[in-house]
Formats: sequence, structure tokens, C-alpha cells
Amino acid sequence: MQKRVWTSIIENLKQEHELTDYQLNVLSTQLKLLKNNKIIYPGHWKSLLNVKMEQAYEILELIKAMGYLEVVYEIKCSRCHQEGIIIRNIREFEKYSVCDICNKELNFMDNTIRIFMVINSD
Ligand SMILES: [Zn+2]
Repeated sequence: MQKRVWTSIIENLKQEHELTDYQLNVLSTQLKLLKNNKIIYPGHWKSLLNVKMEQAYEILELIKAMGYLEVVYEIKCSRCHQEGIIIRNIREFEKYSVCDICNKELNFMDNTIRIFMVINSD
């Protein structure tokens, strides 16, 4: 990310969330490394920052509202645990409604997780 981008994100987070200096440092390091199209898993940020899952999502939603993240979905088969296909919306999901490894029928609600993709940051 460009310096201008990650510094403004950190400034906003300071105002909206009570984060420690340590958490802000971890976040700055993380943000500097991110490039457009990189995927962010809320669960990863949860453990990185040692916050609750809800707060990890809130932080990501704030960065999204600033225009630097977009919501995407990752398909996960609950039977064979195949994962990795990223889609942008429910319409795109229709192409993947059956797992191509184990043939289990998949549905959008149960078989996708909401994640984030970096945009407008380079
Ligand atoms: Zn499967």
C-alpha cells in the first residue's frame, strides 16, 4: 500500500477503535505489505490483533468504507474441505453450486465465507 493510504487508515482506526500502540504497529506493518487484489481473512486479523471476530470485521468494514477493500466470498466445501475459489457475488456462485471434487451440492449461505480484497491502494 502507498504510505498515504495506510497512514490514513491508521489515523481513522485510531479515532474509531481503541487499539493499543502494539496493535497499531502490527496493523501498520500488515497494511504496508498489502497490495491490490490481496485477500484478507478476518480470522487472520483476529489472531494477529488479538481481538474478537466482530471487531476484526468492524475494522475491515471501516477500511472498506474508506474505499480500500471490497467484499468477496470464498467457497468452502463442508464435506471435502476444498477451498480457494473466490467469487464476487451470489450470481457468480451459480457456476460452482456443485463441488467439483466430491460432487456435494453447495449453497451460498452455508458454503461461503465473507472475506475482503484490497483495492485502490497501490
Ligand atoms: Zn467437496
